[in-house]
Amino acid sequence: MGSFARDRLRRLEREGGTVTLVCQECGEEFRVSEDAGPALVAYQWQQETGAISYQRTPKDVFTILEHEHGASALVKKATGESWPLTMRASGIVGLTE
Ligand SMILES: [Zn+2]
Repeated sequence: MGSFARDRLRRLEREGGTVTLVCQECGEEFRVSEDAGPALVAYQWQQETGAISYQRTPKDVFTILEHEHGASALVKKATGESWPLTMRASGIVGLTE
């Protein structure tokens, strides 16, 4: 194992690993980092409000947004919980991460 791979593993551990999501519409699975949930919420909030963030948006966020069924069709494979949040007409009601 080269030093690059070791560094990458260490980084994944520090970031808390990954979560597997499954699309309720088509069954496609996505493995994303756990911090993609909060990052997706932050990104969507920025889009709605026009707020500017200097935090980097993880690649996983765009992977999900580019999926034809979007984030609202995704649930956690392990638990069936909606991810990363429950969208209601009133807005964001809660994070599941
Ligand atoms: Zn889908």
